[in-house]
Amino acid sequence: MNVVALLIVLVLFRATPDAFAIQGACPGAVIVVAATSDEYESVCTAVRSCTPFLKSLGLVLPDGLTLTLDDAPSGKSMDHAFGYYDPRNNSIHMLNYRAALESSRAAPSFGVPFDPAIWRSYIIHELVHAAAQGGFRRGAQRHTASEYIASVSQLVTLPPDERARILENFGELSGFDGEDITLNYYLLDPARFAINSFLHYQKPGNGDAFIRQLLLNGLPDE
Ligand SMILES: [Zn+2]
Repeated sequence: MNVVALLIVLVLFRATPDAFAIQGACPGAVIVVAATSDEYESVCTAVRSCTPFLKSLGLVLPDGLTLTLDDAPSGKSMDHAFGYYDPRNNSIHMLNYRAALESSRAAPSFGVPFDPAIWRSYIIHELVHAAAQGGFRRGAQRHTASEYIASVSQLVTLPPDERARILENFGELSGFDGEDITLNYYLLDPARFAINSFLHYQKPGNGDAFIRQLLLNGLPDE
């Protein structure tokens, strides 16, 4: 966003509480509510970096999607460490960078030091949940399948050197076989679920074709 556009946004939203000084729309029309312009730009970087991958899967971000950066967990995140997508109101809530960094100190994500690229990968994870929501065939069971797609997208879009460092920490994993992609596995260990999903996605014959199958048929959610 250039300076003039940013000023216009600030004037338009001058009644916004100080905690959320910035509101604007990234390319792809994601409405971002953030405290600082740096955080706003980070979200837009995440949007830009996942858009080509989403497009290759025939997915788009839903119109009117709102992403709010919070400085404390909202209590609704359940199985997600740093944020969640709520399809009922087409919104994402994420911990801002500082809060996510603090939250990661007890248990580093993927066993690597937390940094802006890792934080953006979690933003991408939630953006992909939002995009996948509208891509599933009606009636498809989507919880497990959506976690697979979001996890794969999160790792595919990481800088290669960062991804390599993460994969080194999980050298014992060889990827899901297919039938072992379960919600229980995800709930027990989201990081290992993500790595096994990515490794499964990379196996010959899987890739984007497997994700397209998931969007059509889903996976069992029990
Ligand atoms: Zn998820």
